[in-house]
Amino acid sequence: MEDCLFCKIAAGEIPSEKVYENEYVYAFKDIDPQAPFHVIVIPKKHIKSAADITPENSIEVAKIFEAISEIAAKEKLEKGFRVVNNCGSDGGQTVNHMHFHLLARRNLQWPPG
Ligand code: AMP
Ligand code: ZN
Repeated sequence: MEDCLFCKIAAGEIPSEKVYENEYVYAFKDIDPQAPFHVIVIPKKHIKSAADITPENSIEVAKIFEAISEIAAKEKLEKGFRVVNNCGSDGGQTVNHMHFHLLARRNLQWPPG
């Protein structure tokens, strides 16, 4: 998909702080974190929003949640985490490549400083 910020991040054309990657999924630190741990998890395949999930592409969602559980184990989020999806303009979605916010460690001081 041309001119899609998150497609470019997944392709390595725009730099990001990678947290996790496999054949289907790419995860990176949010540039404007809203929690001490804030990662964006995306399918490498361009899907515009959660409203565009179909029986043909829903494997991408399964792969995202498999990745989230792997990231949680690797990052020792044993106390838990939140997964947030903003869908469409009324849902607050600003980047039109479906993504899931993974937020954790709310027990730490926030905002920092
Ligand atoms: P949303 O509002 O749900 O569409 O979320 C988009 C998220 O992408 C926001 O939390 C932004 O801070 C984040 N974001 C935007 N550009 C970048 C970038 N270049 N690298 C990392 N995160 C980004
Ligand atoms: Zn895209």
